[in-house]
Amino acid sequence: MPFVTASTQRGPYDVIIVGSGAGGGQTAYTLCMEGVRVLMLEAGRNYTPSKETAMFQTPDMAPLGGTATPDKSFGFYDATVDGGWEVPGEPYVTVPDKWGGHFTWWRARMLGGRTNHWGRISLRNGPYDFKPRSRDGLGLDWPITYDDVAPYYDKVEMLVGVYGGNESRENTPAGPGDTLLPPPAPLVSDHLLMQRAPRLGIAVLPGRRAVLTRAQDHRTIPAKLHPGNPRAQQILAQAMRNRSPCLWATPCGQGCSVAANYQSTTVHLPPALATGNLDIITHAMVYEVTTDKKGRANGVRFIDATTGRHEHAAARTVVLAASGFESARILLNSQSSRTPNGLANSSGLVGRYILDTVGSSVSGQIPLLESLPPLNEDAAGGLQVYVPWWLYQEQLAHKLPFPRGYHIEYGGGKTMPSVGTGANLEWLTGGSYGRKLKEDARRYYGSFVQFDGRGAMVPNDNCYLELDPVVKDQFGIPALRIHWQWGESEQRQAAHMQETFGAIVEAMGGRVGTPVVTDPVKAISSGGQMIHEVGGAIMGADARSSVTNRWSQTWDVPNLFVADGGVFPYNADKNPTLTIMALAWRMSDHILERMRRRDL
Ligand SMILES: Cc1cc2nc3c(=O)[nH]c(=O)nc-3n(C[C@H](O)[C@H](O)[C@H](O)COP(=O)(O)OP(=O)(O)OC[C@H]3O[C@@H](n4cnc5c(N)ncnc54)[C@H](O)[C@@H]3O)c2cc1C
Ligand code: SF4
Repeated sequence: MPFVTASTQRGPYDVIIVGSGAGGGQTAYTLCMEGVRVLMLEAGRNYTPSKETAMFQTPDMAPLGGTATPDKSFGFYDATVDGGWEVPGEPYVTVPDKWGGHFTWWRARMLGGRTNHWGRISLRNGPYDFKPRSRDGLGLDWPITYDDVAPYYDKVEMLVGVYGGNESRENTPAGPGDTLLPPPAPLVSDHLLMQRAPRLGIAVLPGRRAVLTRAQDHRTIPAKLHPGNPRAQQILAQAMRNRSPCLWATPCGQGCSVAANYQSTTVHLPPALATGNLDIITHAMVYEVTTDKKGRANGVRFIDATTGRHEHAAARTVVLAASGFESARILLNSQSSRTPNGLANSSGLVGRYILDTVGSSVSGQIPLLESLPPLNEDAAGGLQVYVPWWLYQEQLAHKLPFPRGYHIEYGGGKTMPSVGTGANLEWLTGGSYGRKLKEDARRYYGSFVQFDGRGAMVPNDNCYLELDPVVKDQFGIPALRIHWQWGESEQRQAAHMQETFGAIVEAMGGRVGTPVVTDPVKAISSGGQMIHEVGGAIMGADARSSVTNRWSQTWDVPNLFVADGGVFPYNADKNPTLTIMALAWRMSDHILERMRRRDL
């Protein structure tokens, strides 16, 4: 029985994993496939995408046409069944930045975490991204290189299934050639961007997303991922056969009942459970890592949210994968006479150097795309094409007023009509009614394009987490207090996004929906809005300047690991989740190696 409770857990376990999202799912998969007995503790409820996903429901079938509400900020059908910008009973505190802005923290509380909803954009960090300080003197280097992580990017791409082009660009690497699935066919709006952006010296590439454009190669991939392990190969082959290629018709944010896109609940957990080595306790809110007399981790304490009782689970090794900030919170709350400032915190850096992604957006209306006849509108439900950062050399030569770059996520096409489709056309029509309104709605439907910049952030001392001295959650666990302050470099980068997007809209023969924002302070999104928060338990080259070593293993407690974005010392422009999974796999291989040596 893989789903157990505090009283029916079947210890002793080799490893406890806290959290079941991208980091926890990948860790459970890798360890269980190699015969390790794992207990996963997840704060949220169980979730079964094949039964619960509102994949084929249309907006008209939902209350308020499925539109966003405060408790469903991404709409009624959002796959996040519990969680969002607010999690009832789980407050956090934010300290306003010097312009009065606040960090907002988006959390999922369910099996699979945020991977049930995420955008599935899966970009590799490049070589510069692992050594940013060595390149321009700012921020922090990772203690590892791209070459250390590249084999794990290959593995994750093959396992979860990522589409994209194999073309490499400066600091935009691709795998050896057979790790990516073919990209989807471009839409007419994609073709227009591909034709016009190069006029500005901007190259457009196929997007990369964790979505199956065709069935996975279940005959060869399992042997590549699990050489010498026939049982793992067999389990993975079956898991791959159980996934269907994309239907190109349903919004991925509602989840995918046919497992065509990556969710921990459809890709990582089913094969891990099929090994028989994984037990899961849901509704388990972990608040402390416990240690033995020698200071080694020996388990975790958690609250069973269904009974309110404090429980304990034991294992030889503990992996925190509760999402970056939450893992830092658990470490800070793991206080004892030996660790009054929290566990693994001899450096004083737990909670320090938190990061997000710089965001800024511009939309445009393109007359060339008006009144188009129905064309191929089968789209991937997300990034079809994108623009990787293209000005590395200009930055190195100090020709730009900010040090790090961004990529452009582009969207267009005729997405499923919903509340708001055909609204706010007055700036184009001057106002219309009746038959003319319907004609206008048809004319402009599909003529809008969207540019979202996603940019790198240099770590700074003003962004950090601490425990709030007063506020506690419903379980009595001290809440996080989040300090946040964008640097001026990031703000200038956001203003550059705005100007660039405006120029591209113009090159496409269009006009921007709202004026381009040139004030850097106003151009940037507020902290947390990109939902790419990382840091707080950073990895580094020595114990004084970091929390974990190059294997995501805490310096202070050798059998305690961090498998989420907490270990990032730098957040490149690339969306973080593919790197979280690659590092989790790399860390798991290290755990396996040490277990074989009886070192854990
Ligand atoms: C709308 C949206 C779009 C996104 N788009 C992209 C994208 O396109 N590309 C990209 O790279 N990233 C994207 N992200 C971010 C991505 O979802 C995260 O980077 C990724 O899920 C992080 O994985 P994780 O395992 O660290 O955390 P999560 O996926 O958040 O999982 C953490 C799990 O731990 C559980 N947990 C938390 N605290 C505790 C506790 N104390 N005890 C027990 N369990 C606990 C949570 O309930 C959760 O299930 C997006 C996120 C959102 C919300
Ligand atoms: S568009 Fe494809 S990947 Fe997305 S939910 Fe639908 S079938 Fe799944």
